[in-house]
Amino acid sequence: MPSQNVLVTGAAGFLGSHLCDALLAEGHIVLGVDNLSTGNTANLDHLSSEPRFRFLEQDITRPFDPGEVDYVFNFASPASPVDYSRLGIETLRVGSAGTLNTLDIAHKYKAGYLHASTSECYGDPEVHPQVETYWGNVNPIGPRSVYDEAKRFSEAAVMAYYRYHNVNTHMVRIFNTYGPRLQANDGRVISNFMIQALNEEPLTIYGDGSQTRSFCYVSDLIDGIVRLSRSDEHAPVNIGNPDEWTILECAQEVLAVTGSSSEIVRKPLPQDDPTRRRPDITRARTLLGWDPKIPLREGLERSLEYFRSTLVVAR
Ligand code: UDP
Repeated sequence: MPSQNVLVTGAAGFLGSHLCDALLAEGHIVLGVDNLSTGNTANLDHLSSEPRFRFLEQDITRPFDPGEVDYVFNFASPASPVDYSRLGIETLRVGSAGTLNTLDIAHKYKAGYLHASTSECYGDPEVHPQVETYWGNVNPIGPRSVYDEAKRFSEAAVMAYYRYHNVNTHMVRIFNTYGPRLQANDGRVISNFMIQALNEEPLTIYGDGSQTRSFCYVSDLIDGIVRLSRSDEHAPVNIGNPDEWTILECAQEVLAVTGSSSEIVRKPLPQDDPTRRRPDITRARTLLGWDPKIPLREGLERSLEYFRSTLVVAR
């Protein structure tokens, strides 16, 4: 495909930075935007001498004009439960004003648009595995609502710009993803367990560990997202790995991969913590010819070196 001018918001984040890498590898010119509230410029350090990459520190909740762009990827938002709880109002703002501002950019320049949505739109799901046609079971006033409802508002905004302004929009519902650059201190299960295991500290299981998640390795996720961005699909598409694990099993995988002798301790389960989560990826398979390739064990092995390096920095 010919080289495009691409805007990536949330570029200094875990997924945003991997997306920038994938787009640059395809020959595109990338403007990465981030206000660094949860992003980290270290995720972009390796691009400092890349002439096709430029970074702009910018809060997307304020209107801005990046100049002519062919495509907008909207990946800006605090995303871990710890971060969006700490930054509740900012999360609501970026998922509302921020999304509208980036949609305005796509509208103005007749650019394509892909929005990073989330499995949190399904809340604590009564339908299992989650299909895109399920409307979800979200507590609109609970502690997770700042994230869940901001993301649900964003989906409504994206559909409106598609319907009313004919913007070429796409939406991915992202399920739990892990890999190098997952922020070491953002409290997510894989980063917590990997770091605890490498430090020979107890692994903290919230609740009884029977709740489930389905973990996708980052390169698989980015591959699915790039495919979706080129498709004709405007409705949401789940991208995630349908291999479902209890949190206890996940802890055991981490112990096996790290060779750690850490014990397991129990902590209280946070309010509204979804009891199960697993994507139905039939749509991604049929529409995009996409399937995740990397099983949890292999993805954790690939992430080991990164998590080790974060320990060195922390000390
Ligand atoms: N979790 C846990 N121990 C931790 C961190 C998380 O048991 O140290 C659990 C958490 O309660 C949830 C699951 O792991 O059930 C995934 O949590 P995470 O914060 O990674 O993301 P979520 O899928 O809840 O958005």
